[in-house]
Amino acid sequence: MADRYLSFTGTAPGRFVTRRLGLPQPAALKRFSPERPALEGDRLLLTAGKSDLDLAATGLDLAATGLGPTTAREQPAAVVLDATGVRDVETLAEVHAALHPVVRSVTSSGRIVVLGAPLDPADHHQAAAQQALEGFTRSLGKEIGRGRTVNLVRLTDARAAASTLAFLLSPKSAYVSGQVVEVGPQDVTAPADPARPLAGRTALVTGAARGIGEAVAETLARDGARIVVLDVPQAEQDARRVADRLGGTALTLDITADDAGARIAAALPDGLDVLVHNAGITRDRRLVNMPAERWSSVLDVNLASVLRTTDALLASGTLREGGRIVATASIAGLAGNAGQTNYGASKAGVVGLVRSLAPRALAEHGVTVNAVAPGFIETRMTAAIPLFIREAGRRMNSLAQGGLPADVAETTAWLAHPASGAVNGQVVRVCGQSLLGA
Ligand code: NAD
Repeated sequence: MADRYLSFTGTAPGRFVTRRLGLPQPAALKRFSPERPALEGDRLLLTAGKSDLDLAATGLDLAATGLGPTTAREQPAAVVLDATGVRDVETLAEVHAALHPVVRSVTSSGRIVVLGAPLDPADHHQAAAQQALEGFTRSLGKEIGRGRTVNLVRLTDARAAASTLAFLLSPKSAYVSGQVVEVGPQDVTAPADPARPLAGRTALVTGAARGIGEAVAETLARDGARIVVLDVPQAEQDARRVADRLGGTALTLDITADDAGARIAAALPDGLDVLVHNAGITRDRRLVNMPAERWSSVLDVNLASVLRTTDALLASGTLREGGRIVATASIAGLAGNAGQTNYGASKAGVVGLVRSLAPRALAEHGVTVNAVAPGFIETRMTAAIPLFIREAGRRMNSLAQGGLPADVAETTAWLAHPASGAVNGQVVRVCGQSLLGA
């Protein structure tokens, strides 16, 4: 379903009328395309506090973002503020001093990435100042406008965060704003071919016959992965169409079947590198009107099958060392949503699974576990929402528009990237900084 309001505000009369009426002014976001793979413009590196982080010496190749370096404060496309050295309220003032003069001139669809340090449990002044960066980031994201995004990365080692910074400083993160990502200290290896980071790897995407899953499969194939498109037998034709287009294979089975994990393992004798739990359903009703069947079907597809197949593919060793699990949560699982007690419970369950399993899966199997939490994404699922609720859902975020399946796909591709091994246990919202939830 096309966003006609966004098209309207893209015209001069549309802009005039909507501004006069005080209506939302969504900017057309600049997304990744092979022709325009990078943000166009300069990057500005700023520092607040005394930082030990040496972005250049730690091997962080900001040149890989395609952005030109600059010290000029005019019209940067990306600003990176190293605030890892902010230790108290006094040095926090340097955040204001650094960004206040430049924020106005950041280009449309530009990026601000704040680098923070982990909170120090032994120093409550440092912890207060570093936590302050979170409120700062989220507040700036809500006011900055013009398709610009603001995110915070907490890190100790810049090299481990290279894939994360490359993503956040690229058009691939167009719909990711107001997020806080923690990057661990793990050693990471850059892929041999940066243009095809998943070359030689196999990725299985559940529910990939259409919608977000199809976009995820496409994006992982673009990045070089061999794709297995999993969907229900009723969707076999679509699953085959997607698989054929991507040079992959289709695997039709119901993910809720008891033997789903065993059948996936049998279909992948050579192992699996990327497992994307994307299949999901909604059966909305308020709790007072919800029969047990609506509850159990949603919990079974969205959560129980994710737990079962994850367990089976880790236990069988199908998921290889260096593997990636990306599960699909939802902002409904973080903020709650009327009529979605079943869906909200299932998606919150996914978050619990990710947070608990991530450290163990990495320690025992060398596999990272993260979640994407989409907000309002333009798909068949959201096209079925009644007009007024749909229109409210689209606008109620800092970017004042819905996201596209490609936005979730790009976020998944970053988490699946071979150099993202230090990103673990994260729940990354792809929601244009939705006003629902934190
Ligand atoms: P969709 O309904 O368009 O696609 C879901 C796919 O999953 C379908 O192809 C379906 O056949 C498949 N599927 C359903 N049950 C299955 C089963 N038992 N076994 C195997 N495959 C099964 O949905 P979408 O909008 O593309 O959503 C994809 C994921 O993103 C879901 O987990 C959804 O909850 C989540 N999500 C979507 C939005 C949104 O705005 N569209 C927002 C938040 C979260």
